[in-house]
Amino acid sequence: MQERLRRRDFLRQAALTGALLPGLACANALAAALARPLAPLVQGRKTKRVVLIAFSGGVRTRETFGTPDNVPSMLAMAKEGVSFPRLRTSNLGHFGASMSIFTGINEPRGIRENQRGPDPTVFEYLRKDLGLAQGDVWVTTSGGAQQTNYSYGLHPDYGARYGATILDGDGIFNTKFKTLLDTFGKPKPVTPHEAELAERLRSGLGGATSPEERENVERVEQYILDELTRGTTGLTGANAGDAKALRLARNLLTIFKPRVVGVVLQNADVAHGSFNAYAEVVRRNDAAIGELMAAIKDDEELRDSTAVFVLPEFGRDRDLNSRRGLDHGDGSDDLNYVQGVAWGPDFKRGREVTEDLRTIDVTPTICSLFGAEAKLAKGAVLRGLFG
Ligand SMILES: [Zn+2]
Repeated sequence: MQERLRRRDFLRQAALTGALLPGLACANALAAALARPLAPLVQGRKTKRVVLIAFSGGVRTRETFGTPDNVPSMLAMAKEGVSFPRLRTSNLGHFGASMSIFTGINEPRGIRENQRGPDPTVFEYLRKDLGLAQGDVWVTTSGGAQQTNYSYGLHPDYGARYGATILDGDGIFNTKFKTLLDTFGKPKPVTPHEAELAERLRSGLGGATSPEERENVERVEQYILDELTRGTTGLTGANAGDAKALRLARNLLTIFKPRVVGVVLQNADVAHGSFNAYAEVVRRNDAAIGELMAAIKDDEELRDSTAVFVLPEFGRDRDLNSRRGLDHGDGSDDLNYVQGVAWGPDFKRGREVTEDLRTIDVTPTICSLFGAEAKLAKGAVLRGLFG
C-alpha cells in the first residue's frame, strides 16, 4: 500500500508537471505545479477546485427534480447546497447550448457543426488569469469529435494555449496530450532556466537517478492511462458514454486533484426515440454523479475544497412525440428552463433560489469563485449562491 501511495504521488507530480507541459515550455506553470499543495485562490474562500457537469442531451426538470426517485444524488446535493429551479436556457441545439454553459454566452451553432467557437471558455479564463498549468484544467466528454471543441475557443487573447486537456469517454487523450505522454521521460527544455527547473523536478522526484525510478518514468504513460480509465471499459448500457465521462472525472479528481474538471454528457438525447430510455439515462447518470460525489466526500483533501455544479443545457418538449419520445423545439417552459444545482464549501446550504437566472451565469460564477474574470461572458454571478 505504501509503495503504491508513494508511486502514485510520484506519478501525480510527474503528470502535473513534465508530462503535461509541452516540452516544459511553460516555466511558470511548472513552478506553480511544483508549489503544491493547493491553496485557495481567493482569500477567505475554501474552494480550491471546481467540477462543472453539463448534464447535456436535453433534460427536463420533470425527469430530474420533478421525479425525486430518478435523482437521489442530485437531490442530496441540493439539500447540502443551492438549487436553481429556474435557469433560463436557449434552444440553440445541443452543441451550441452546451458550449454556452462553458463560455457564458449564448452560442448559436448547428447541431452537426464541428468547429470551435469564437469565444473563450471558462477553462481559458481560469488558466490565463490564474496562471494554471495545462494539467490543472481538464474536460472529460461522452465522446465524439464535436465534443473536443469544448476545451477552448478561437479568441485571439485566449485559445489553445489556455485550453483544457481533454479526455473522452473511451479514455482516449487528445492527440496533443498523447504526444506529450509519448515524449515524457525525454523532456526537451528550451531555455537554461527551464532546463534547471526540469532538473529540479527530476531530483525532487528522485526520478532519473536510480534504475528503478527510471523504469517508473518509462511506464508513466501506460500507468496514467490505466489509472484514468480504471473501470470505464466495463460500463455499458444507454448511458455508457456519459458514465465513462463521469468515471474519468472521478478518477482524475482522486488521482491528480486538479483545479478544474469539466464534464460534458449527451446520452439523454436518446429521448427523441424513447421516453423510457431517456428516463433510464437520467437515473444512471444521477447514480454516476453520486459515485463522483462519494469519491469527493471520501477524500480528506477534496471534501472541503471542491465545488460541484450540475446543469442541463436545455430541457425538452412538454408533450411526447408520435414515437413516445420527446423532442426539443416547442418553446415551452419545459424546454426553456432547467434546474441546476451547486454544491461546495463556500455555498449556502439547502437553499432554493426561485428567481429566473441563466445557464450562462455559471461560467462568470466559477470565474468569480476563483478570482478570475469572464471578461466576454454575458452572464452574471449566480445570485443567492453565497449570501
Ligand atoms: Zn436532440
